Amino acid sequence: MDLASLISFDSSNRCFARSENATSETEVKLVDLLDSKFLDSLKLSQSAIHNEIFEVLRMRILSILIPEEALQSESEFIKPAIRRHLKNYGLEAREDVVSALKHYADNFRDKALKNRRKYTISDVRVRYRSKFEEILGKQCGRCATCGTELHYGSNMQLDHIFPWHFGDDPSSGTNWQFLCEMCNRGKGEWPNYVANYSKIAWLHTGTSFSLSESLRYAVLIRDKKCCVTARRPMETELIVRKKVESGNFLLDNLETVSANLPD
Ligand SMILES: [Zn+2]
Repeated sequence: MDLASLISFDSSNRCFARSENATSETEVKLVDLLDSKFLDSLKLSQSAIHNEIFEVLRMRILSILIPEEALQSESEFIKPAIRRHLKNYGLEAREDVVSALKHYADNFRDKALKNRRKYTISDVRVRYRSKFEEILGKQCGRCATCGTELHYGSNMQLDHIFPWHFGDDPSSGTNWQFLCEMCNRGKGEWPNYVANYSKIAWLHTGTSFSLSESLRYAVLIRDKKCCVTARRPMETELIVRKKVESGNFLLDNLETVSANLPD
């Protein structure tokens, strides 16, 4: 198993060539090759990859486990509908799973159907002042993703950690964090990344030869800390840079480092 079999081009079909004799055995060998040669240069551990895949799958599975009925109207029959739906998938309708799915469906209806408005940073500051101070204190006054200093009225925005349509918006603030404007805009395009995992590495490269906000956000959220000093956003401002200067602005050629890294 070599590189050629990984990237060979089939000119008649104008696509990746798939080996005629591809068997599960050769696929296992390919995974071994990726593991031994590329995980290191991608600076990804096996557990990091598992975490990424787990998050994507979790959101996709959640979306198929909610029956149509549960999104349409509020009723006492939602739980039975969820139980039937789980059984259609051959799954055990455990009570904790049913309750969790009902909760997500209730949240979704509440926001999607009632046109509920998201809280903004000023809502939180005016109505929940102590929570506002508490979150800002916990984040050391910095953006939760990139660590830049936040200033109310300038670059500070409210973000819902778990997607707003499924998540709660409780005034206890458990689903709130504060982001800078650039990270919040970058996160806005995040669903594009999870929509088709195989294309993640190529999305938003554009032709401008510069780093898009969504790609910047994707790198920050993947690394979560400076790759050199391991400092986190609550300790330092983080920036995204190329690993190999001659490479492209692509997810796997980008890394997160502290903005004030000594040369
Ligand atoms: Zn930020």
